[in-house]
Amino acid sequence: MTLRAAVVGGGIGGTAAAVALARAGIDVQLYEQARQLTEVGSGVSLAPNGLRMLDRLGVGEGVGRLGARYMSVQLLLSDGQPARYEPHQFTQAGRNVGIHRADLLGLLVEQLPPGTVRTEHRCTAFSQDPDSATVGFAGGRTATADVVIGADGIHSALQGFVVQPGEPVFSGVVAYRGLVPRLAEYPADTMRMWVGETKHFLVYPVRAGQLLNYVGFVHSDTPVRESWSAAGDQAALAGHFAGWDPVIGHVIAAISGPGGSGFLWGMYDRAPLPRWSSGRLTLLGDAAHPMLPHLGQGVNQALEDAVALATLLGAGLSSADVPRALTTYEELRRDRTARVQLGSRRAGAGYDSSGRLLVDRRWIYEYDAWAEAAALTSVGGLAACLCRVAISNGLKVAHRFPPSSVVGVVSVPATASRSRNGPTLSPSWAECRNRLSRFTV
Ligand code: FAD
Repeated sequence: MTLRAAVVGGGIGGTAAAVALARAGIDVQLYEQARQLTEVGSGVSLAPNGLRMLDRLGVGEGVGRLGARYMSVQLLLSDGQPARYEPHQFTQAGRNVGIHRADLLGLLVEQLPPGTVRTEHRCTAFSQDPDSATVGFAGGRTATADVVIGADGIHSALQGFVVQPGEPVFSGVVAYRGLVPRLAEYPADTMRMWVGETKHFLVYPVRAGQLLNYVGFVHSDTPVRESWSAAGDQAALAGHFAGWDPVIGHVIAAISGPGGSGFLWGMYDRAPLPRWSSGRLTLLGDAAHPMLPHLGQGVNQALEDAVALATLLGAGLSSADVPRALTTYEELRRDRTARVQLGSRRAGAGYDSSGRLLVDRRWIYEYDAWAEAAALTSVGGLAACLCRVAISNGLKVAHRFPPSSVVGVVSVPATASRSRNGPTLSPSWAECRNRLSRFTV
């Protein structure tokens, strides 16, 4: 029978997940609390690892049309002189794309089957039994599915049904950000980051180069609410960057001109969560791993989550297999996103120290989340799965996989324990897979 999925949260993460699940043949509904699916008025930078996922979601052409590829990338000191860095420590020319968030969301929504989106559904409750999971919404409505995906952002309601929710951590940094029309003083197709002590300023084009996205990061002792309703104070921003490269002054001056906008945003993240899933419920995007924006990876990691999860759930599973697939998803994604969360903190400190301590990004950009997930559903992946099941059962081989999928016997020192959701294994799935990679299938 076709699996049924309920995705809660219609941001870029949840919408991408709904597209990926629909493309994997899963019957999906997307529930959003707002009246309509909308994104905040600013840009997002798409990195090679995220662009790879967008190709898989069928929107690569649209991103090429509505985005703006940076053909020149410049890391500068406050006076506009070039900063010293290795090419892999920053965005590289020709590989990243800036896009207006609303444009990206619109492209994803176009990919959804008609009738997928249910707006004005604010999730307030969750329950499950061995056969299904049910989401409760304000007003008393409910939805039942085989799998529920919490993509409801940093203040996730569903996170509380997986772990004891931790408080978002204020980073001591606030961001003034928004859009201005393209400027004669700013070169076309160019991303620029000016770095200095305790602050940095980022500009890149979006909407096919018609608009510039800017973000000024400055330290603040006062936590600022995460909110798009907070208007950014243009004069305060100008004061923070007084004496820096005059191009920054031109960008800030355009905020109050026609088509300009400015908002103030507090920078929060959370410590990596100890787990993401509970039975038929899992988390995705900022609900699972909110991160500071200093590696520009929040959306990119959510896109990776979406494709990896749909690849695992779409591998011809029955409803009974869902909890195990979610455990696999979490094992595949948790370490990587935790590294990006912590790397984002370090990258911010690097920019605020005039470019010292920058982070090597190759391991982030070269990763293909689809290939990693697909490997786990292939013959080798099934063998790894079988290996894990065998380990968890004290080497009593389970009967779920055809004998032809057994490609060898792997000796792995195992410690297995049982949890509510089934066996918890050490070594990890990834380690089993690494050891299995020695076998030729
Ligand atoms: P959200 O965008 O928060 O979406 C959550 C959705 O769930 C919302 O629509 C919300 O209304 C809905 N919702 C919430 N609660 C409920 C509920 N109870 N019931 C139903 N619906 C609910 N990332 C990048 O990759 N590149 C960048 O360049 C980049 N730049 C950034 C710059 C700044 C200044 C900031 C702050 C972030 C940046 N990010 C960037 C990070 C990125 O914005 C986030 O990681 C990303 O938007 C998270 O998407 P999401 O879908 O997981 O969550």
